[in-house]
Amino acid sequence: VSTRNVAILGATGSIGRATLDVVASLGAPWAVWGVSGHSRVEELSQIARQTIPEIVALTGDANPQSIDLPGKSRLLTGPDALIELATAPEVDVVMAAIVGRAGLESTLAALQAGKRVALANKEALVVGGPLVHAMRHNGSELLPVDSEHSAIFQCLTSGGGSLAEGKKSVRKLILTSSGGPFRTWTTAQMRDASVEDALKHPTWNMGRKISIDSATMLNKGLEVIEARWLFDIPAEKIEVVVHPQSIIHSMVEFEDGSILAQLSPPDMRLPIQYALTYPERLPCIAPPLDRSCPWDLSLEPVDHDRFPALNLAFEVARVGGTAGAVVNAANEQAVALFLDRQIRFTDIVPACRMALENHQHESDPSLQRLLQLDRWARAEVQRWSCGMQA
Ligand code: NDP
Ligand code: MG
Repeated sequence: VSTRNVAILGATGSIGRATLDVVASLGAPWAVWGVSGHSRVEELSQIARQTIPEIVALTGDANPQSIDLPGKSRLLTGPDALIELATAPEVDVVMAAIVGRAGLESTLAALQAGKRVALANKEALVVGGPLVHAMRHNGSELLPVDSEHSAIFQCLTSGGGSLAEGKKSVRKLILTSSGGPFRTWTTAQMRDASVEDALKHPTWNMGRKISIDSATMLNKGLEVIEARWLFDIPAEKIEVVVHPQSIIHSMVEFEDGSILAQLSPPDMRLPIQYALTYPERLPCIAPPLDRSCPWDLSLEPVDHDRFPALNLAFEVARVGGTAGAVVNAANEQAVALFLDRQIRFTDIVPACRMALENHQHESDPSLQRLLQLDRWARAEVQRWSCGMQA
């Protein structure tokens, strides 16, 4: 069997570490060919000593001398390090697991280079969705890692057919959401929510940024936009339901009214592995669903009054163009301000709405324009938050 070399962008993160686990458990021909890290230099050194990759990319501004590499590994630093890693001819699969818009260029470059991209970095699609289809050729593949999109992908291709075939008879893509830590909180309670409250996710253990997104439910909103671009499907065909147990990862309703769902425990190692090995299903280190005790699966509608993030995201998914870049950047800035205790939890979504409404929408933006708007929206939220404190 030929080698399956994996480049893990964002290896020091939650998805990155889960991917390291999966690749190690798969064994040969799977190998970690390259890894990147940003600020966690000690973890990056440790990962390099464990996996002995060809390439280690350090993207942050830590001193490269501080990283302790095995003899075989080559260190890349500087602005092009990620692109070089993502497009290296030896790489078969790129795991895009950087958080935020910072993962956009390397994801696009990997697609342009004809790689299989396992995409965790949903923000790359939210920002660059309008560009992604135009950039895909050379047999590149874009496979979802996000559990909801993996579930939908699995439902659409479950008959062994292509995604395009599966899509023909879709009535609705139904994304499930745990509801986050504030599922049962009132708006007044959320106004006073602390950073610690918001980071306490009931079913998943994830990085800080996505944990806050789950609390506002903008994570589900970003996933609606992600689904719109990933499956090239209109926003009208996407729906969200709350499912607190996080066992049904999403569902597809077909034209005849039949619904298919994908179920497994909340463990990202399963969708990660499937994105790597698709169409093959191999034994996975994620434990199977325990059926030995009673289990409960409940579904309830979203409360749009308490969670305004979803209607905002549906608007973005409908208009497309520059809207995703603006709302994503505003959210990244607002989440950083909240984590820094400079704004309230309930200021995050209004900050996103403010940026969306203050920008001039364009339907067919260039990458340069999207990056420009990304910088503009961050500055806009920063200014807005200073105004609020004054
Ligand atoms: P983490 O915060 O745990 O990890 C983020 C990774 O990105 C780290 O390796 C970090 O490096 C790196 N990174 C951060 N900033 C930059 C930057 N400016 N340039 C380059 N690299 C950077 O996040 P998660 O693993 O939780 O999430 C990663 C992505 O996957 C997100 O888009 C998230 O929405 C998505 N996702 C995550 C899920 C989860 O269960 N965690 C589930 C579904 C999707 P360092 O740590 O060294 O600073
Ligand atoms: Mg998800």
